[in-house]
Amino acid sequence: MAFPQRFLDELVDRSDIVDVVSSYVSLSKKGGNYFGLCPFHNEKTGSFSVAPDKQIYYCFGCHHGGGVIQFVMEIENLDFPNAVRFLAKRANMEVPEDNTGLEESRRRQRVLAVNRDAARWFYSNLSRPEGAAVAAYLERRKISRKTAMNFGLGASLDQWDALLNAMLEKGYTKADLLAAGLVVSNQKGRIYDKFRNRLMFPVIDVKGDVVAFGGRVLDKSEPKYMNTTETIVYSKRRNLYGINLAKKTKRPNFILCEGNIDVITLHQAGFDNAVASMGTALTTEQTKILSRYTKELVLCFDNDNAGQLATQKNIELLKDSEFNVRILQLPRRLADGEYVKQDVDDFIKFQGAVAFEAILNGSANQMDYRMEAVASKYDLSDPEQKIAYGGEVSALIASLSNAVEREVYAGRAAETAGISRTAMLTEVERARRKKGSQERRTLQRENLNAAALRQPRDRTIRYTDLRSAMAEEGVVCLLLLDGALADKCRDLPAEAFSSPFLGKLFALLTEAWSEGRTMTAASLSAHCTPEEMSHLSAILQRPESLANAERALEDYIQVILRSAEKRQGERPGDPLLAAVEKYKQKKGNGGKQS
Ligand code: ATP
Ligand code: MN
Repeated sequence: MAFPQRFLDELVDRSDIVDVVSSYVSLSKKGGNYFGLCPFHNEKTGSFSVAPDKQIYYCFGCHHGGGVIQFVMEIENLDFPNAVRFLAKRANMEVPEDNTGLEESRRRQRVLAVNRDAARWFYSNLSRPEGAAVAAYLERRKISRKTAMNFGLGASLDQWDALLNAMLEKGYTKADLLAAGLVVSNQKGRIYDKFRNRLMFPVIDVKGDVVAFGGRVLDKSEPKYMNTTETIVYSKRRNLYGINLAKKTKRPNFILCEGNIDVITLHQAGFDNAVASMGTALTTEQTKILSRYTKELVLCFDNDNAGQLATQKNIELLKDSEFNVRILQLPRRLADGEYVKQDVDDFIKFQGAVAFEAILNGSANQMDYRMEAVASKYDLSDPEQKIAYGGEVSALIASLSNAVEREVYAGRAAETAGISRTAMLTEVERARRKKGSQERRTLQRENLNAAALRQPRDRTIRYTDLRSAMAEEGVVCLLLLDGALADKCRDLPAEAFSSPFLGKLFALLTEAWSEGRTMTAASLSAHCTPEEMSHLSAILQRPESLANAERALEDYIQVILRSAEKRQGERPGDPLLAAVEKYKQKKGNGGKQS
């Protein structure tokens, strides 16, 4: 008993697995997935998981798993057709006559096959003389051959029956081609190719099937695009251009744009999360598909009137959805002394991928606005106010984590204030260092609290000087992250450590480095008692990172030396004290740091 594939697709779309499972299992969300007690075996801790993005369930305990239909089959103990009927009733859908299913499924397979072969043929034309015009067009639009292959782009030829003949030769019938919408018939019943002399874009669904085609003219003639009309395998409302690739993205959101070309340009520039609704406003069916893969949509439409209107319509549709929606406004571009509109394709071409990444991250738009707000507070013709502006704006720019962005905005701020770029960048870097040391102080406070909580139970490794031990832990962590930092610890004697255990680890690590070896936590274990080892594992949970490691290390060394100094009291001639003195002199600031 076969149901039409389209019906099953829609049924699955309308039966969200989280909803369905929730009526049997109490689920709680952890990260992107849901967990609960497995309904298929007895357990006390939840090893049953549901992944909303993949629309599947899986039990780590009994290894049952599958999609929403399998779930209903198992939990209701139904066979496939009855599980389908069960879900259809729940989703308020009518079950189509069963006996038509098989025949329809066969016709669908046939149309998908001819589509696939047509796409292959279009692609192969790019390397043939007849397809040269399209190949040249791709070159003009800066679409590489690799990208063309990724998207399966191709060329329809400037002939009335080139595809028709190629496909008949492959054994397809005129009826197959008509059903696929690849050929059309005129009043006299003559059949000819629908797409001629166009750049061809196969529309590929999430399953990887070629379901339709779009074809763009190579010049300014009309219509600019021709698209496959509805067929048994294609419904415009239920597809998104680029979804077959975008569904694999590792980026946290999806970019929704207007045009096929925009999608292609974005993917080529590294934004493999772009899809397009192919010139129409988004539909609820499309949002259903998107919601399987992402929770955040970035709308990036042309900044012309049509684009703004489409944005409005889409916002309306998405208003009550679970998506977090952001609007990406493309700035106008200065060309020949005039600000002109641009679409994503233009933007990438003229401003580049880094600039797009910046707007995508939201920082660019926000930064422009915030920088203007700062500038408006000062009268920049007044030298003193100019300095004050420099101080405030550099602090703002220092908050950007990306060096390229800092460079760009420092340049802009320098221009605004009428000072040199170098001076502004110097200011920014100073603000950054200041910010960094403040952050390190906060981190140190947190580490101190954590060290107190971690006080080892074992008396032999108990800390006597908590403040110093916190810094000692930090040094050990950093050396484990990067053995080469041992070079920076030359002025730190192991005897300065308040904790004999941490001092031992430090000595082992620095000694290893001087002999050209690096040690890992695992190789340290040979020198540790089980208690020490378990304490070391606890220490390694500290949020130590290699960013800013040298500065952090300096701070730690200072804390350790000063604490040692305090513990020792004034004892002239003490070798340890001498080490501390030496360190202070080297820093040239009495051991104090700003
Ligand atoms: P380009 O950048 O070369 O102008 P584009 O792909 O960005 O091409 P747009 O004019 O921005 O095209 O249109 C957006 C989308 O709308 C197209 O990609 C296409 O899917 C669809 N579209 C455009 N014009 C038509 C048309 N005449 N008929 C059907 N669909 C169209
Ligand atoms: Mn466009």
